[in-house]
Amino acid sequence: MKDKEMQGKKQGTKAVWGGQSDLFYQGATQVPVVNSVTFGYDNVDDWFDVAIGKKEGHIYSRNTNPTVAVFEEKVRVLENAEAATSFSTGMAAISNTLYTFLSKGDRVVSINDTYGGTSIVFLEFLPKYGIEVSLCDTEDHDEIEAELKKGCKLLYLETPTNPTMKILDLKRLIQAAHQVGAMVVVDNTFATPINQSPLALGADLVLHSATKYLGGHSDAMGGVVCGRKELIDQVFHYREINGASLHANTAYMLLRGIQTLELRVLRQNENAMKLAEHLEKHPKIEQVFYPGLESHSGHKIASEQMTGFGGVLSFSVKGDFKEVKVFLNHLELAHLAASLGSVSTLIGPPKVTSHVEATEEERKQLGIPETLIRCAVGIENIEDIIADFDQALSKI
Ligand SMILES: *Cc1c(COP(=O)(O)O)cnc(C)c1O
Repeated sequence: MKDKEMQGKKQGTKAVWGGQSDLFYQGATQVPVVNSVTFGYDNVDDWFDVAIGKKEGHIYSRNTNPTVAVFEEKVRVLENAEAATSFSTGMAAISNTLYTFLSKGDRVVSINDTYGGTSIVFLEFLPKYGIEVSLCDTEDHDEIEAELKKGCKLLYLETPTNPTMKILDLKRLIQAAHQVGAMVVVDNTFATPINQSPLALGADLVLHSATKYLGGHSDAMGGVVCGRKELIDQVFHYREINGASLHANTAYMLLRGIQTLELRVLRQNENAMKLAEHLEKHPKIEQVFYPGLESHSGHKIASEQMTGFGGVLSFSVKGDFKEVKVFLNHLELAHLAASLGSVSTLIGPPKVTSHVEATEEERKQLGIPETLIRCAVGIENIEDIIADFDQALSKI
């Protein structure tokens, strides 16, 4: 099924068929894994035409590869973008995108609560190259707009954020950025293309750690950026030279995972909502952070810009870190592990995972209680997860 025919199809259909409908090698219905590093030609004229981009084809797998191209096409279709390019990890997608568009003297505006690795790029690496970075209080839209007005080349956003699921008003901030001539990049990893479409809200580029929900099984790393062709061509050029390319084997694993994206994410939305509602009523829980709850500061905006609230929530237990340890050590149906987006439930305290390098004071400033626990709900039957949480909480 060609691109034209994918337009107007629902996300669940695109996840299965996007990029994947041509008959492959000898009629194979599934995507062949092309482990070839190099691609040969019968005559030099054809080779030359492909090399100068006059004809479609592949030359060398750091640049393009047939299996990797199917992965890029599938995500492109899901994000309704003109073009997409892929990377070996989510961080490669993020850093390569930033390095593509930023040069000495440019100014970036972003938020305090970006993904840990992203925030290190902002604080440690970009300033080394003479790029100014202004990080704002995540929920303070007025501050972000004020910073944009001081001059900005690129606004970098992420919503919902880790770990307290703060929500940014994408439409409002994208408009404000465009008014001052800044381009907008949105990390859509937490929301997935099932729950949120930043490009439809005006973003210039949307990117993902495919390691999380797109792949969906915690067994493959990758990254991807989607947007207008003119921008993606530049990101592709940076990546083909700097080398953070996705491997064909990994692309296949991500492709295999992504076909069930809608099924998984709809289930995770539902599971997270049920768990959040249950924990909010639990006597041993202090506070629950989930944008699907009316008590959450971002609930109203999330209800408007998302079609589902996602599979990640966090909550603080009453007491101190001793109680956190008792609870986590008694859980049976969750991996005590970092990351998110897997079919199995992953859980851990930001004090030990994403924010281990922050001081208690810095965590406080980000609104992260010392007893906070982040949970990325899997696709298990939620009744079993809730029962497991209850028995572990009863040990406190
Ligand atoms: C995990 C993650 C990343 C980084 O992705 P890797 O694949 O681990 O490099 C970036 N952004 C968000 C929101 C993430 O959760």
